[in-house]
Amino acid sequence: MLYDIIIVGLGAVGSATAYQLSATNKKVLGIDQFQPPHTFGSSHGDTRITRQAIGEGSHYVPLVLRSHEIWRELESKVNTELFRACGGLVFGSSLTNAPAHGSSSFLEVTVAAAKAFGIEHQVLDCQEMQQRYPQFHYQGTEIGYFEEGAGFLRPEKCIAAQLQLAQQQGVELQLNQKVVSIEPNSHNDGVVVKTNTNTWEAECAIIAAGAWVSELLPAAYQKFFKAYRQIMLWFEQELPYEKFVPEQCPIYIKLGETAEEFLYGFPAIDGESGGIKIGTEQFADSCTADTINRNVSADEVEQGFQRISQHLKIKNHCIKSVACLYTVTPDYGFAIDTMPGHPQIILASPCSGHGFKHSAAIGQILQQLALNQRTDFDISAFSLSRFV
Ligand SMILES: Cc1cc2nc3c(=O)[nH]c(=O)nc-3n(C[C@H](O)[C@H](O)[C@H](O)COP(=O)(O)OP(=O)(O)OC[C@H]3O[C@@H](n4cnc5c(N)ncnc54)[C@H](O)[C@@H]3O)c2cc1C
Repeated sequence: MLYDIIIVGLGAVGSATAYQLSATNKKVLGIDQFQPPHTFGSSHGDTRITRQAIGEGSHYVPLVLRSHEIWRELESKVNTELFRACGGLVFGSSLTNAPAHGSSSFLEVTVAAAKAFGIEHQVLDCQEMQQRYPQFHYQGTEIGYFEEGAGFLRPEKCIAAQLQLAQQQGVELQLNQKVVSIEPNSHNDGVVVKTNTNTWEAECAIIAAGAWVSELLPAAYQKFFKAYRQIMLWFEQELPYEKFVPEQCPIYIKLGETAEEFLYGFPAIDGESGGIKIGTEQFADSCTADTINRNVSADEVEQGFQRISQHLKIKNHCIKSVACLYTVTPDYGFAIDTMPGHPQIILASPCSGHGFKHSAAIGQILQQLALNQRTDFDISAFSLSRFV
């Protein structure tokens, strides 16, 4: 069967691309090895932070601003809340020495991006934060950035909404089908996509395979995409529940003096006994998407409590724990590019722990690249050539 475009992987990025391509007259096929939204990749766990002033670098700001427009457009189409702008607090003990996600001074870059793009924000001293946000423990020297337009997305609902709309508008989906190869055709003007049981041809293929991406890339590129297991923990709150509802508690990022001290969290969204979700990061032990240990051990929960409770007022009662996957590049940046020598094969690997908020706009970028081999967005920072 001949398609114009085949999307391999229908998670955050693939579903956004399917939705964007459904507005064109192209014949589009989306393939996933599971039934998205699912809990095996990088897009589960109920919530993802979104913020407009991007501490990973101001070149991400146009992506998130466009994504916020698309999330709102989607909400009105499916009549479901996808994005809650409860505000966001990014804080650390130093403005300049606060590394995270490849940025050596995440807080400073955040403030600079807000100024450069006219994003409404406040810079808070520790006293102001103590008064406004008593949910945290402070050392007394912290500095904070507050952004009213930040908040959280509902990743599973975003994926479901985009796939539902894409399908309604004619995109074909093949689920529970694992793609085993994506090769240029013999004239190098199309692609051949194979599973163990099917072969499809198209003019163009988009690889949006998340933590499985290296399996579908030529050997020379595989080493640039490493998967890391991350855990999310839901603890009981120590202060009254009302202090943690989205009206009182923003999403937050707590920065330390090393990237490993980074932690982030959300207000309570599952009622009084649902707990509050907090995430930590580790980049010491890589794994693969198929061999990841999906169980979180009692030791990990205890270590998580010891670490998180230094910063957040929680009780030593873990309500839920989930493991998830980051796909990390050497500089923690995204890879969005055509494959060298094969412009009909487009790669999109936007993770390193910060890709969901941008995924709606990345769908638009991939739509434009598939149709025109160019995009209105500046994606030069995401090129593959920086790695080789
Ligand atoms: C714990 C955690 C917390 C995070 N927090 C945030 C946050 O707060 N804010 C933020 O912006 N970002 C955050 N991120 C990052 C963000 O979630 C990811 O960037 C984003 O989900 C990546 O989307 P994706 O489409 O690349 O991958 P996925 O959503 O995992 O999709 C990949 C899809 O490809 C399919 N697939 C793979 N290989 C094949 C194959 N061979 N054949 C068929 N199908 C295939 C998979 O089944 C899957 O459905 C977080 C990530 C994690 C893990």
